[in-house]
Amino acid sequence: MIDLGYVTCPNCGQKLKKNGFLQSNFHAVFSDHQLRIQKHRCNNPECNWQSTPTTTTVFGTDIHPDLAKLQCEQGALFSYRDAQSNLEKINCTRCSVNNHTRIQSLTNQVGATLSQATLREPSAQECAAPARDLIVQVDGGHIPVKEKGKRSFEALSAIAYQPNKIKQVDKNHRQITHKTCVVAALNDELDTIKRFVLNAAHKQGMTEQTRVTNLADGANNCWSVLLSLKSHCLDLECILDWFHIGQKFQNVKNVLGESFESSLDSVKWNVWHGEVQAALTKLKLLQGNISDDAKQFKIQGLHNYLQNNLDYLLNYDERKNSGKAYSSQTAESHIDSLINARHKRKQKMQWTREGAHNVLQIRAKMESQEWNGQWQDAVLEALIGAA
Ligand SMILES: [Zn+2]
Repeated sequence: MIDLGYVTCPNCGQKLKKNGFLQSNFHAVFSDHQLRIQKHRCNNPECNWQSTPTTTTVFGTDIHPDLAKLQCEQGALFSYRDAQSNLEKINCTRCSVNNHTRIQSLTNQVGATLSQATLREPSAQECAAPARDLIVQVDGGHIPVKEKGKRSFEALSAIAYQPNKIKQVDKNHRQITHKTCVVAALNDELDTIKRFVLNAAHKQGMTEQTRVTNLADGANNCWSVLLSLKSHCLDLECILDWFHIGQKFQNVKNVLGESFESSLDSVKWNVWHGEVQAALTKLKLLQGNISDDAKQFKIQGLHNYLQNNLDYLLNYDERKNSGKAYSSQTAESHIDSLINARHKRKQKMQWTREGAHNVLQIRAKMESQEWNGQWQDAVLEALIGAA
């Protein structure tokens, strides 16, 4: 089956004759093979051309694309060393093709290819039917860094989905059945993530007639990404994510202790009902009644957080009653799992921005359920340089 079909010499055009076989390695998913490939030699004594076929020169690669896919999945979900040991367990043997540096290099290349693909405007076929409403959430996470003098850098991730795609799984859990998830960790003044988010929104059916609701944790770069959608849709509403507000309050409660719990609950009640000025006044009063510096500092932090996000606070009670989105609670664990599971589990692991960015592309495709449709092109491009 692996006869290259040579009839004439590519060098001089004379007839070729068979010249024995060459043994060459080929790595399938669960086993390694030695393939016998036919060699040829030129009949013309002045030419003497010989073929030296190997699996790499014949196929462009000596590993089966299915094995490359498995390596990428392992590399995206686990540390490269754990990925190596998982693959060794699956194969019941140690094999150089599953070495962690090979997994790292392939994962990187495939991630870089996926990143390029995500930058391209999606085709009409890739986009859902026009959506009346769309929710886009942006959130950030910190990844430990390799560069000296710095501790971490930020990756931003976003999810786009239509509100009717949220399904109740059981009493306490909801799930988004169809979504596009993107993530970027490059230091490029948000260029990449902005294009990723725009393309993700289009994939989920955003048109110039779509009303977009944005949820974010209040960081300026998150708003900046979301506001860049404004000229591409009918209407853009930015809302400070209630889930994050709840977290901030809990965080302050933990420092202040039980005796301030009811005061803080009362402030939170004001925020929930859209009475932000009342909330800010109460916080100032509370701060004045406390002598402890650390506690004062915490309250000031909460005050500034609300103050900085005044434009994005509204009556959450009203929104809840009218069945509109106000919290990322459903998707929060998902953003966490995307950035944190792979990049924070092992504190020893340190990342370059590009390395992290590339791995995260594979994770984002897996979360968006796009990996199964897209891995083949990316893997073939990484292995043989062409899809
Ligand atoms: Zn020849």
